[in-house]
Amino acid sequence: MNTPDLAAWWMPFTANRQFKSQPRLLAEARGMFYRSADDREILDGTAGLWCVNAGHGREEIADAVSHQIRTMDFAPAFQMGHPIGFDFATRLAEIAPAGLDRVFFTGSGSESVDTALKIALAYQRAIGQGTRTRFIGRERGYHGVGFGGVSVGGILNNRRVFTSLPGTDHMRHTHDPARNRFTRDMPDHGAELADDLERLVQLHGAETIAAVIVEPVAGSTGVLPPPKGYLERLREIATRHGILLIFDEVITGFGRLGTPFGADYFGVTPDLITTAKGITNGTLPMGAVFASRAVHDGIVKGPENLIELFHGYTYSGHPVACAAGLATLDIYAREGLLTRGAALAGLWADTLHALRDAPHVTDVRTIGLVGAIELASRDGAPGARAYDVFTDCFRAGLLIRVTGDIIALSPPLIIEPDHMGRIAETIRAALERAE
Ligand code: PMP
Repeated sequence: MNTPDLAAWWMPFTANRQFKSQPRLLAEARGMFYRSADDREILDGTAGLWCVNAGHGREEIADAVSHQIRTMDFAPAFQMGHPIGFDFATRLAEIAPAGLDRVFFTGSGSESVDTALKIALAYQRAIGQGTRTRFIGRERGYHGVGFGGVSVGGILNNRRVFTSLPGTDHMRHTHDPARNRFTRDMPDHGAELADDLERLVQLHGAETIAAVIVEPVAGSTGVLPPPKGYLERLREIATRHGILLIFDEVITGFGRLGTPFGADYFGVTPDLITTAKGITNGTLPMGAVFASRAVHDGIVKGPENLIELFHGYTYSGHPVACAAGLATLDIYAREGLLTRGAALAGLWADTLHALRDAPHVTDVRTIGLVGAIELASRDGAPGARAYDVFTDCFRAGLLIRVTGDIIALSPPLIIEPDHMGRIAETIRAALERAE
């Protein structure tokens, strides 16, 4: 395949100058593998971007999408709807954690986050708590790139460049390598960090805070599972103060931890859940917010407005994305993928933790079918070593993701033991070659 002209596409989250001098181009995908434009097989260690949970190239989804485009390619969902949208919402409600069975469709994870924050404001206002306008996020949280998501997110560069919404605060993150290292599942120490919410309540007054948002397992900033008891404690504090708890499950939703949602895994029920990615197996852009009955009814049955929630997108409930989503849920159900990770998590953990003696490794963390391998930074060049490992793995036929000096892994949930072995061997070899 000829290399295309690379100038026009201003690429997202990319060091454009560096990339365009040495591009990596993917051309095909099937099952656990990509094929690069220069015709090499590349094992997918990241399910695309944490989204292709059922593996690539699923014919059933392709057929459903093609059929839906031919039947009805688009329909508005403002003051009208379509059966496939209602069917998909119903199917999602059936697998949602108990009680979170009202579904608002969006087009991405970022849109889901901004939608959930707006639902929280609308709910507080509808129940007569209109002074509650503050949001609490967490350091090292990632909640997408909308202004709401950037503000509650905990990536300093983002907030510095793009500014934050007024009235956003952050709890400390839960990663504490001095107390928790080489952890499987939940780390033992750190539940008390949830008390940061209590401190912010004391500082600002509960009557000013609408919602607190966390990823049950922080993903994009390096796979940080919550300490034992942390999420329970956060739930308790939020409830006691009338603050809505939002779980951003854009990554942990749809089977990543071996349960349908992270809320199921941790046994903690939030008021709102944001999702995207695995909702269509990554095939078409889509997201959804799951709301509790109380939140939904508080708004929809609240003070009489012609339109209760003045919010939505042209592509909310896009019929073609709904078709992709329904076919995806069929595959998840038939192949047991939403719970398959539970059976494989032990082997996954063993495989990755065996890398603890590889060069440069300072920590390994695993939970469900996610994992992180943290490396010592090269002097004066944070992130450089992991970036080298990433490019080396790509050359050797493995797709990994790096964030700073952390390698993050989240393979398709159809992964088999031999793929796990290959992931670990390729990373070990790259670490051995790395300076
Ligand atoms: N929230 C979380 C937890 C995410 O991991 C992501 C994407 N990695 C987003 C939100 C944003 O999703 P999107 O890129 O689809 O807007």
